[in-house]
Amino acid sequence: MRLVQYRHEDKERLGRLEAGRIIDLQLAAVEAGRNPTLFASTRALLEADDEFLDLARTLQHASPISAEDVTFATPIRSGKILAIGLNYRDHAAEAGQALPETPLCFAKFPSCLAGPFDDIELPAEDAQVDYEAELGVVIGKRTRRVSEQAAMACVTGYVAFNDVSARRWQFADGQWVRGKSCDTFGPCGPCLVTADEIAHPGNLGIRAFLNGELVQSSNTDQMIFSVAALVSYLSQAITLEPGDLIATGTPAGIGFTRKPQRLLEEGDVIEVEIDGIGRIRNRVVQNW
Ligand code: ZN
Repeated sequence: MRLVQYRHEDKERLGRLEAGRIIDLQLAAVEAGRNPTLFASTRALLEADDEFLDLARTLQHASPISAEDVTFATPIRSGKILAIGLNYRDHAAEAGQALPETPLCFAKFPSCLAGPFDDIELPAEDAQVDYEAELGVVIGKRTRRVSEQAAMACVTGYVAFNDVSARRWQFADGQWVRGKSCDTFGPCGPCLVTADEIAHPGNLGIRAFLNGELVQSSNTDQMIFSVAALVSYLSQAITLEPGDLIATGTPAGIGFTRKPQRLLEEGDVIEVEIDGIGRIRNRVVQNW
């Protein structure tokens, strides 16, 4: 199933994307005599019992809308975003870094989340803004101290994610959080694709295109720590909640390590694509 959130009259609504059309799940719930508040958002749906996620797969209503007629919002409003640095062998090599022995974790504030086709805003002239194509993992149930073997049962789905980063602030601040959390620095989507549609998250082609040119091209099989390993590792210290997002790291080809460097500029279009999930596309605009 492909869940989307879209904007309608200043509010975000939850829908199921199917054959180019969106079935609004609150309207569908009302028609089916179900409690519509459980279908108000992806987060509300994930926080409800599993039966409602199953119900979301089949609910119908009389007047689905064309996906071309709506503005997509972020498919998930997470309570927290946990991100992982240096998690691809090819990226560690280009950065000249040894492979980490444990995951390098950092945080992005969830206020950075943006829709799959929203603009990315450059926050300052000298911020050195860069792209990072990543597989985003969405947690479906409250998870604490889960084993690696049991971890995948906690994963509800996946998004394509761009871990946009202001390199100057990331490195100058001594902490990464400001450089990683600027408004619009977490575009994701285009949908939340449920885990049943992604048989092998550890073997997905992942790419970034800058103005149509392929700048990152790898596979999630290059990850040093698998999705299951990351979920298990993080949950030893931090309770994961429904809707939490794990950004699993980026492969080689980021702008900062290119020779010459190629950082994002006003007017650029940056795209992130993952096999089986889809492609997000964001224009870069100046906002200072
Ligand atoms: Zn990253």
